[in-house]
Amino acid sequence: MTVEWKWAEQADQLNSVEQLKLKQDGLDIIEEIREVYAKQGFASIPEEKFSLFKWAGVYQQRPKADGYFMMRVRIPTGILTSRQARVVAEIAQQFGRGLIDVTTRQAIQFHWLQVEDLPEIFDRLGEVGLHSYEACGDCPRTIIGNPLAGIDPNELIDTRPIVNEMEKTFLLNKEFSNLPRKYKISVSASIYNPAHAQINDLAFTPAVKEIDGEEVVGFHVWVGGGLSNRPHLAQQLDMFVRPEQVVDVAVGVTKVFRDHGYRQKRHRSRLKFLVADWGVEKFLEVLTEVIGPYPSRGEDRVVGWNAGYFTGVHPQKQEGYSYVALNIPVGRTSADEFFQLADLADRYGSGTLRTVNTQNIIISDVPNEKVEALLNEPLLKRLTPAPKTFEGYAVSCTGNEFCNLALTETKGLLHEVVQYLDQHVELDTPVRIHINGCPNSCGQQQIADIGLMGGKSKTAKGMVESYQISIGGHLFGAGQFNTPLKGRVAKEYVAPVLKELILFYKEQKQAGERFTQF
Ligand code: SF4
Repeated sequence: MTVEWKWAEQADQLNSVEQLKLKQDGLDIIEEIREVYAKQGFASIPEEKFSLFKWAGVYQQRPKADGYFMMRVRIPTGILTSRQARVVAEIAQQFGRGLIDVTTRQAIQFHWLQVEDLPEIFDRLGEVGLHSYEACGDCPRTIIGNPLAGIDPNELIDTRPIVNEMEKTFLLNKEFSNLPRKYKISVSASIYNPAHAQINDLAFTPAVKEIDGEEVVGFHVWVGGGLSNRPHLAQQLDMFVRPEQVVDVAVGVTKVFRDHGYRQKRHRSRLKFLVADWGVEKFLEVLTEVIGPYPSRGEDRVVGWNAGYFTGVHPQKQEGYSYVALNIPVGRTSADEFFQLADLADRYGSGTLRTVNTQNIIISDVPNEKVEALLNEPLLKRLTPAPKTFEGYAVSCTGNEFCNLALTETKGLLHEVVQYLDQHVELDTPVRIHINGCPNSCGQQQIADIGLMGGKSKTAKGMVESYQISIGGHLFGAGQFNTPLKGRVAKEYVAPVLKELILFYKEQKQAGERFTQF
């Protein structure tokens, strides 16, 4: 169903992307790529069409003139089969110079793709039930969740069926493909909030409520979170939602955003600005007009925050089985490693891999008697379940290697920094370091113990890459963004400055105190 857009009457007040969306639904670009640009080549693509490529999950790679693209692939709640993983590896190997990144939304990212190959890549993904469609753009993006859904001893219910139904409801649905801005949803029933509820536009977290004398397991609903350069923490609505109602509520919230979200200034179009202006009481009133009344809030069942870290070997809720969570240094892996991961998932587990929003990966369903043999596999020397203190907690966005918005390099620097810290600092507690190459915060720096945000600084030697350092972010309780320290640090000084900062913390901290509380 295509919605009759009321904004056409106010076209002169809309931002340029909105004006483009009035002429063409973003999803139409998929057919256009297949039928026109893939056949006629990069030079045939009109400049204004590139911003619509995002609806196909495709961005121009830096430098734009070279004609390469990066592509994100949706992995709902991070769960993929070994067959899907092999297709991902084949695509990276054949079309993407062998590179695979795991993103902070549990997605897979390819680089170096060419427009001529996009139809075949779409088809190969589609054959195994994967899609890049709407992994970017002003639409519901990858639905993230608990990577341990279905095996987690700490989840109230298995959220896989809910995420799958939500994915079917939103994906390629023109009722929701023209939202005011990107729109991020998370669903988790874990008591440790692995899906970072407070930084999503819409999030569902576990709760219980006594209804008619019976304790019902369900969800609380959060709206209006998001990072970028004006970060907001999501707030809870006063409502309790049963598992079978989650998709209806998600549809309702999405309609409120679609119909009331701001479309004039693009930098104020995320749902967080509407929620901040209205307040959650008014938001719930408007939502109730769309979906009808729901019971008021029950009891929260989130008791802490694991920050999305699972590394190591841990028991599943299925007796006799474990999951083995591996570190992918700064989220960068390869086709070769992905083939090996798929093989290991088949040989030792149930053929299931799980991507994590900390850019790591899990092999699940390993019978306990096979764990030791898995731990001895050569691949687990690099993708280790026991990473060093700093390497194991490093998250990085794409940065200026590929991203056109980047002001600085990220992955290479962070990899060097954590290796330096692991050589020079001994600490008995993890320190989570996140880096962004610009204020857009794909590396989620505001929720890190130590966040690095790339920019430029004027020096006697001219403009240099520099980083703002912020400390103390977390998502316990309502959550708190980290606090920027004064000044900026040039690239070559980041490692020694962080060393001094962490040594100062080590000296001052109380016995048993952890930088991070998980
Ligand atoms: Fe690009 Fe900025 Fe996002 Fe990094 S944070 S991937 S530099 S847009």
